[in-house]
Amino acid sequence: VDTLELPGVRRLYSCTPARLNAWLDCPRRYAFAYLVRPSPPRAGPWARLSLGSSVHAALAAWWRRPRARRTVAAAADVVAETWIPEGYRDAAHADHWRHRAADMVRRHLDGVDPAAEPLGLERTVAFRTDTIAFSGRVDRIDRRGPVAVAVDYKTGRQPPTEDDARGSLALALYARAIARTMHLDCTEVELHHLPSGTVATWRHSAESLDRHLRRAEAIAADCAQADDRYRAGLGEAGLPGVFPARVGGQCAWCEFRSSCPEGAAVPAAEPWAGLEES
Ligand code: SF4
Repeated sequence: VDTLELPGVRRLYSCTPARLNAWLDCPRRYAFAYLVRPSPPRAGPWARLSLGSSVHAALAAWWRRPRARRTVAAAADVVAETWIPEGYRDAAHADHWRHRAADMVRRHLDGVDPAAEPLGLERTVAFRTDTIAFSGRVDRIDRRGPVAVAVDYKTGRQPPTEDDARGSLALALYARAIARTMHLDCTEVELHHLPSGTVATWRHSAESLDRHLRRAEAIAADCAQADDRYRAGLGEAGLPGVFPARVGGQCAWCEFRSSCPEGAAVPAAEPWAGLEES
């Protein structure tokens, strides 16, 4: 469901961070992912995405264990339970990265209090405004005294900076959604980078959260307008006119490149590219 509409009620654009960011990254990719049906074939799997999913799932599995089994030594077990071996060069390469993932998780857990029960794990939070119905899944929600903190795990090559935490639309919207869903004050957001063990944090003000919200509403308005044009048949502008291809480095990874003549001009990345070393 992309929009919600009731008689006499203004239409809301249903969105997630992934949907809004897809539009910002490349309107053509947005169209392929959310509008064009049947959905075009998708390339992949990509090792770096498998790694990210495995590590996220391992951390959630660790927290879901009974308190007595939340040990640092359990890192390798939870990674083994959740490991996705897809996209790597071969079995030995996948195995190498499974060990690397276990190291990352172990180091992260070494700095965690296993008794500090999170308020939420992979929890869906949501809110509505006059124009959007936002929902998103937060990796972890911590309680720190009377407030809640939105935690996002990262497994990419570059450690995120404070600017990344401050500028993250997703984290700001999560903070607003946590406050609405859980009735707790939530202005603090954190990016936990597993490969480096660093944490980038930012404490929002009510004003900075409002700015992010206005931005999300503006992006959503553009998306809604483009969605309407798609449903109306696109007209003379066609797909390229309404959903321009934003050709760049991301095309090497794009799952829809086989359906996109413009982006297909960029050489494809190997499925295991983008890992710290391969
Ligand atoms: S290949 Fe590039 S231009 Fe084409 S949809 Fe993907 S990201 Fe957009």
